Amino acid sequence: MSKLNIPYEDLRKVNEPFEAEYRQVFDTLLQSGWYILGQQVQQFEQQFASYCGVQHCVGVANGLDALILALKALNLPPGSEVLVPSNTYIATILAVTQLGLKPVLVSPDIRTYNIDPTCIEASITLNTKAILVVHLYGKCCNMQPIMELANQHGLYVVEDCAQAHGATYFGQMTGTFGHAGGFSFYPTKNLGALGDAGAVTTNDAALADAIKMLRNYGSRTKYYNEVAGVNSRLDEMQAAFLNIKLQHLNAITQHKQALAAFYLKHLHPSLILPVVEDGYVDVYHIFNIRTAKRDALKSYLLENGIKTEIHYPVAPHAQKAMKGILDGQYCPIAEEIHNTTLSLPISFGTSLQEAGIVVEFVNRFINQHQA
Ligand SMILES: *Cc1c(COP(=O)(O)O)cnc(C)c1O
Repeated sequence: MSKLNIPYEDLRKVNEPFEAEYRQVFDTLLQSGWYILGQQVQQFEQQFASYCGVQHCVGVANGLDALILALKALNLPPGSEVLVPSNTYIATILAVTQLGLKPVLVSPDIRTYNIDPTCIEASITLNTKAILVVHLYGKCCNMQPIMELANQHGLYVVEDCAQAHGATYFGQMTGTFGHAGGFSFYPTKNLGALGDAGAVTTNDAALADAIKMLRNYGSRTKYYNEVAGVNSRLDEMQAAFLNIKLQHLNAITQHKQALAAFYLKHLHPSLILPVVEDGYVDVYHIFNIRTAKRDALKSYLLENGIKTEIHYPVAPHAQKAMKGILDGQYCPIAEEIHNTTLSLPISFGTSLQEAGIVVEFVNRFINQHQA
């Protein structure tokens, strides 16, 4: 009997369908002799802006830089407070701290895992300047009340869209609600390159212009530097791969949505499953379930050849790196999520048949462990 092996993510398999196109564009680019900020980046910026339904897109080196440069271009005074959800990936918070700004944690909604709009107002002080929302796991945040609060209090809104390419909220895509959206094209993301890549989306021409300067040493014209910028350009080669992948993003999303629908239909009802609500189209970067027996379930699946992940094992306030930064910002709901969440395979490379096996083992474990 051959042992089962269901990976959480097999990037080789994810990229296999695009291999011929990738090789062709690599040859073309190599021959062209133009490797930085060329036609491919320009084309990607146009096409991704149009895909999202936003006026401007600026390609940058990675998702963290997308958030840093979007925030930097807003020129917030030093010491400004930026509201962030308590249960995000560390990059969201590092974008704030790297600029010398103060991250203030806001509790997530235990049903959606996204920032709870009803908890925002209590965290607003005279120093609060922005809300950095995260569309976690591929579900858009509840943007209507968030934008309303932001407008009421004169706050900027930046969206961390690293997990939510193409997710919509009442027909509108992530990265188009706030002043800017930061995207990551890290290889495992729904729209993944073959290396690091990122982008900022915005409807503000001046902001787009500022970010374009910042990503390229603060210059518009070579060797003339208007502001102190950085090197965070989107690589021409990665842009070329992304131009190909973007044409298949809807197919990738549909595959993940089909796997999610299958999981939602067949997983044991005693598990806490992702919520599905009217007005939201989720893209399932991650399909997480919650159970108090998370660690035992993870081990059981691994023993049976099924790999899972935990997003994330440690809440930001409990990370060693955040000592002295997030002290005293304990959030019980974030703690609860981090202690019970488990991510099942939902890759473009995961087959429906594999999802069937995952369901079988998860349900078998739950049936065996019910009181
Ligand atoms: C991946 C990710 C990032 C960072 O993207 P990189 O390209 O790895 O820098 C930021 N925020 C969230 C929520 C992410 O999942």
